[in-house]
Order: sequence, then C-alpha cells, then structure tokens
Amino acid sequence: MFLLAGRPAGPFRRPLGIPTGPSRGDPPAPFTKLGFVAKTTIEGAYRGGHLAPQGVHCAASALFHIAARRTFMTDRHPRGRAPGSDPRSVLVVVDLQVDFLPGGALAVPGGHEVLGLCNRAAATFRNVVLTQDWHPPGHASFASSHSGRVPFETIDLPYGPQVLWPDHCVEDTPGARFSAHVDVPHAQLIIRKGVHKGIDSYSTFYEADRTTPTGLSGYLRDKGIDTVYLAGLATDFCVAWSAVDAARHGFATHVVDDCCRAIDLDGSLAKAWADMTAAGVRQVRLDDLAV
Ligand SMILES: [Zn+2]
Repeated sequence: MFLLAGRPAGPFRRPLGIPTGPSRGDPPAPFTKLGFVAKTTIEGAYRGGHLAPQGVHCAASALFHIAARRTFMTDRHPRGRAPGSDPRSVLVVVDLQVDFLPGGALAVPGGHEVLGLCNRAAATFRNVVLTQDWHPPGHASFASSHSGRVPFETIDLPYGPQVLWPDHCVEDTPGARFSAHVDVPHAQLIIRKGVHKGIDSYSTFYEADRTTPTGLSGYLRDKGIDTVYLAGLATDFCVAWSAVDAARHGFATHVVDDCCRAIDLDGSLAKAWADMTAAGVRQVRLDDLAV
C-alpha cells in the first residue's frame, strides 16, 4: 500500500514525449545491447574493406530504427510490453449501458461506435473492470426529481453544482443494462455508481460529494495495480472524472481516447481534457495498447 501511495516517480510517471535511455536509470534493454553489437560489427566491416559506404548508410538506418523502437517501447510502454499483459495494469470500461447508446434515455452521440473498440481494448488486458451507472428511482441527478426543472439545467445541491439529466440508468431497468454488444467475459468486477439517492457519481472512484468512495481504489490496490487505463462513455463526464480521481490517488492514468465518446455540453469536453491534462492523465489510442 505504501509503495503504491508514495510512488510519484518512476518510469511509468514519465511525461509523454520525453525520450528515454539507459542514462535515465532504466535497466539495460535488449534493443540497446543489439544496437551496440550492430555498431561494432558495422565499424569493423567498414575498416576491413568489407562494407561499401552505401552499406554503412543502410546499417546506420537500421541502427536508427533500433533506437526509435527502443524509444517507442519506453515511451508508450514503459515496462517494455503491451500494458494489458502487465498484472499491474487495469482497463476500466465505463458505462456501456443501453441508456447511453442511441435510442437510450441519455444517448451519447456516437456511443455505439465504441462498443467494438472497447471489446478490442479489453481483449488486450488481463485485468478489466466494468462500471455501471445505477440510480434508484427519484435520483437527485434527474430533472424530474426537481419541480420546475428541465434536463441539462445546472442546479446547486449540498455537495455543489449538479447538471440535471433525463431519468436514466434506473436500477434494474432495461436502460441500465449493459449493451448486448459488450463482450468482455473476463471482466473481474462491476462497480455500480450513483447508487445513493441524494448524490450523483460521475467518477467510478468517488461520488460527487468527493468524499464517498465506491471502493474501486482499495480493490485495485489490494490487487497490486498501479496503472489505470479508461475507455467508454462519456469522455467529458464519467471517464474524465474517473481519470482525474485515479491520477490524484496515485495511479498512472491513461485515457484511450478513440474508445470514448463525449456529450460535450457547453464546452465540457475541452474543460474535461484541460482538467485531465492538469492532473497528469495521458491520452493514448487503441493502437498503443498492442506492442
Ligand atoms: Zn447517471
């Protein structure tokens, strides 16, 4: 627990785009050793008259690609392998529920487009958690629960501003179910959030009062997980709030951006990315999940 909570530095915390190498404290990599052997061989062949200048050029090109591959491996995959194969990584698939898909009570534009993408992302992870928005009838986030209010207005609740939504994901109703196209049989945990009548919960770590935990953080730490990837719906609400909370609680956090879709209400998507970037959340794509 201490190691996880007090571990702000390390290769996996490195900002995106900063080249890395053995001098930064990484263990010797096979690619580095291969590059050294290749360089020595090329120099020897050239001095011995066995290699023409064109050959030197080709060999240098090969060395460049070895170095580029080494940088890719360490930047995108700090531990030198696909993140999903690492037992310390988890993919959290957010709210792929009927009500958030076209035809649902609170449809996210293009939400259906991520179903297959999230399935593909999940297939690369050994650890997967699904989240499920799950509200009791008359929930505080429903416009219908507040006299004279309409969906997408913002009101003040005891814990702060609250956007009012159409009734959605009411517990144990068809709209709250996962889409039939979700195909993640190896998911190990389903976290239900927004279960308290008076508190909404975009984040899958803490409810909107910012103090009531869902229990996900403890679950992940008990399993030795220190790196969180997120995908699903919607980028600017449940994904973003979850990502910011994950980063603030010491997890190296990534959002698989092309596996998400946004509601984008009054600039909420831009604000969400500003908040995520400020919290240290990194943006990745589905292609980045495979080496
Ligand atoms: Zn909700």
